[in-house]
Amino acid sequence: MNNQLQPKVVITIFGATGDLAKRKLFPSIYRLYKSGKLSKDFAVVGLARRPWTNEILRENVAKSIDEALSPEEDLEEFTSHFYYQSFDVTDESSYSGLNMLINDLEGTYNTEGNRVFYLAMAPEFFGTIANKLKQYGLKDSGGWSRLVIEKPFGVDLESAKKLNKELRAAFDEEQIYRIDHYLGKEMIQNIEVIRFANGIFEHLWNNRFISNIQITSSETLGVEERARYYDHSGATRDMVQNHMLQMVALLAMEPPISLTTEEIRSEKIKVLRAIRNMKPEKVDDFFVRGQYDSGDMKGKSVPAYRDEADELKDSNTETFVAGKILIDNYRWAGVPIYIRTGKRLAEKSTKIVIEFKNLPMNLYYQQDKDKHPNLLIINIQPNEGITLCLNAKKSGTGALAEPIQLAYNHNAVSGINTPEAYEKLLYDCMVGDATNFTHWDEVALSWKFVDTLLDVWSKNVANFPNYESGSMGPDAADELLAKDRFHWWSF
Ligand code: NAP
Repeated sequence: MNNQLQPKVVITIFGATGDLAKRKLFPSIYRLYKSGKLSKDFAVVGLARRPWTNEILRENVAKSIDEALSPEEDLEEFTSHFYYQSFDVTDESSYSGLNMLINDLEGTYNTEGNRVFYLAMAPEFFGTIANKLKQYGLKDSGGWSRLVIEKPFGVDLESAKKLNKELRAAFDEEQIYRIDHYLGKEMIQNIEVIRFANGIFEHLWNNRFISNIQITSSETLGVEERARYYDHSGATRDMVQNHMLQMVALLAMEPPISLTTEEIRSEKIKVLRAIRNMKPEKVDDFFVRGQYDSGDMKGKSVPAYRDEADELKDSNTETFVAGKILIDNYRWAGVPIYIRTGKRLAEKSTKIVIEFKNLPMNLYYQQDKDKHPNLLIINIQPNEGITLCLNAKKSGTGALAEPIQLAYNHNAVSGINTPEAYEKLLYDCMVGDATNFTHWDEVALSWKFVDTLLDVWSKNVANFPNYESGSMGPDAADELLAKDRFHWWSF
């Protein structure tokens, strides 16, 4: 493996005692190390306020890797690369100490001044940290410096602009890696390949042959321990502004002229620009919001959202959103893209269904209602793969058809677990590939679209709760498609 693909780096994690570091970042760094994608010349600096030591951090790193991956080897050599500094990000005096520690580690591990600053902390600190990293010279190291930012990126367009301004005062756009972990998922990255490497799909990928597209990302879990965060966010900010609109962009973009970051981003940005912005008075014709009531999930009764915590008692926050998105360009005019996401729904699944138009004549079904359109289903999670629904002759005499499915199950075929999204994204960041991170223009256009919804909804008290836990959301989400003579496909 050459040097370029095996980065030497000091990774500094702000928020190293938190949930994200524990569940995602430590196991991902370990897997990169084990697979040889990370040079043995690396160090990780963990920062947070609590008075941990190197040893406590190392024990926690080993524990999180044991829990996530159950490796059968001693982790001591690996965890010896981890260092802890107790650090309040708002305290000026912490930063020069951090610079000294990183400089020392660069000497010890020969990491050539390459630095990743990973902000696994609440977003209100992002601006301050970026600014201090610049002020105290931490980003001027002789190698490359990159800043990784977690979501949420603001709470609306205005706050996102403000945050972006603060970040850009310290880092260039090319140095900022905004994580949308969906973009690290194997099957999300596969959308481009399925489309642009298969003539049988790409030639039909337009309004002449596709009747509608459906994107569903459903969770069975409720708000769990994240009540405070979630109640300020809701499904629109948590899922639609980022993950759902990113999937829309990948499904609808034009083929890029090459696979460079710039070309792919530029095509995605064009799609986001072409999404029809709704007039406020039209929001309720295009979008449905919901909040879960109590219900029954696999034989267990579960409480309503408003009963999950005291502070949610009168909440008007949506735990479900469904909507119809229209893209006003030559390829997509007239094709609705329906999105749906929510908590406490009947199943945990993210999938995309492409419904093709029916043939003008199909003589092989006795009744119109039995006719089955061709569907391409892209399963993102937990199953990964694609299914193509076709019509074939029913065996026996006669000339009747029946729907059949051709399925490709990614996990079964490859026989290994796909790398965690975070592992891939961390690696991309370290090798300087920003393709699967969101550019500021994408963030801004997405906020512009969802701000209209949020603004209208903030002015009207919703009739919540309006869907039972364990269902697939409010009836209005079904009516949204029924108005256009479609229905949600479930498999
Ligand atoms: P968390 O568990 O609450 O962790 C927050 C971390 O920040 C802790 O390590 C905390 O440690 C540290 N911290 C808080 N105030 C600090 C200060 N003034 N100075 C230094 N450190 C401070 O949060 P999380 O779930 O890991 O989430 C981190 C970020 O990732 C958030 O932006 C979140 O939205 C995003 N995210 C998380 C997930 C996930 O699965 N958890 C998924 C997607 C996005 P001390 O208390 O010891 O200081």
